[in-house]
This record gives sequence, structure tokens and C-alpha cells, in this order.
Amino acid sequence: MKTIGMIGGMSWESTAIYYREINEGIKAKTGSLHSAKIILNSLDFQEIERLQHSEDWAETANILKGAAKSVERAGADFLIICTNTMHIVAPEITEHLSIPVLHIADATGEKLAKEGIKNVGLLGTNFTMEKSFYKGRLLEKYGIETVIPSKEDRALVHKIIYEELCCGVIKQSSQDCYFQVIEKLKGIGAEGIILGCTEIGMLVSAESTISRMYDTTKIHAEQAVNFALE
Ligand code: GLU
Repeated sequence: MKTIGMIGGMSWESTAIYYREINEGIKAKTGSLHSAKIILNSLDFQEIERLQHSEDWAETANILKGAAKSVERAGADFLIICTNTMHIVAPEITEHLSIPVLHIADATGEKLAKEGIKNVGLLGTNFTMEKSFYKGRLLEKYGIETVIPSKEDRALVHKIIYEELCCGVIKQSSQDCYFQVIEKLKGIGAEGIILGCTEIGMLVSAESTISRMYDTTKIHAEQAVNFALE
């Protein structure tokens, strides 16, 4: 079994989900007392969040590069970055490593392509919904078109992520808000919805029957399990 390197803490709420999902995946596939071999470098999200909102991506890249290097030195065979948003700096991190990085948008794109989805709604932070690092990758590598919420709805989705979900706060009113946004995305052609922020699964279950939901935390964790066992 390969050793999984993880950069987490963004937020720790979702890193905890990754940890459980990965261990449950290893247990389901190998049985008995097996558990995942993991080296986790968990960052202080307050620092990262401040840099994100001042758009200092170069400094976030420096911090994540350092974290990735330490995980590599500690013996990880490959790396996952446990957040969608910080894949903005995935190219800078990847070029300084000799171990592979499993990109969260590839894990998701492969699953969508397998299920024949051609047009997908994307929920996540404003950075993920608006910038091209995620949507562009889905289009270029998998031919999948992305639709995103209106500016007003994006602001709500973003605020709920930072002010509630990353702090472990789950509110019925926010769940209702997300479901309304999802309905609007379906109305403009989304055949499925990417829960493109690793905390959204805490609010909106991928098993929900209202739409085909793609929870990136679960998909990414599953990809890591499969790769670890290859
Ligand atoms: N975990 C979230 C994501 O998947 C948001 C926190 C962050 O900005 O890293 O994008």
C-alpha cells in the first residue's frame, strides 16, 4: 500500500472527513485491521484565508509548496491537496515535487465523464466558481461545460462556506439557500451539480434525490484510496 500525503486544514472540518473517508475506503477494500498510511500536513486556515481574500496567491503557493515538500520528505508516495480552491496554485506545487499530485478536478472530471455528464453546475468559493483553473480544466481535459450561479447567489454560497461551514456551523436556512441555487442551476441546463468545495457535503448530501450531486471530498478521497492500492 502506498503512503498518502495530504495537505489539509483548509478547513480542518473537511480534512477530518477526508481522513474518515480514506480509512473507510481502505477498510472496505482490504478488510480486517487495515488502515490508510497517511502523512498529513495541516495548515492554519486563518492565515490562508487572509491571503486568499487579499489575492496574494504567490504567498499561498509558497506556504503550500513548503507543506508539500515536507510531506514528500517524510515519505509520502503521492499527494492530495484537500481543498478545491487551493488548486489555484496546484501547478506551482506540482512542479517542485517528484511525487505525483492527484488533482481534485481530474478526479471529478473523470467521474462526470464516466457518467456521461456534459453540462454541470459548480458550487464552491467565489475563487473556484469564477476563475478558470477548475472550469477550464473540466472543459479542456473532459469536454465538460460548467454553469455557475448568478453574482448574487455566488456571494451567498461563498459567505456560507467561510462564515459557517469552515467553522462547523450547519444551518437549515443555508441548506434551503443551497437547494434554491441548485434548482436555478438545473433550470439553466446543469445535468448534475459539483459540490466543489470540500465542506459543502456537510450541508448538502450527495445522496440527496433532488439532483445528481458530485461531492468532491468523497470523489477525491476515493481516488486516493484507489491510487494507494494500485
Ligand atoms: N475547502 C474549501 C474548498 O474546497 C474552501 C476553503 C478554501 O478556500 O480552501 O475550496
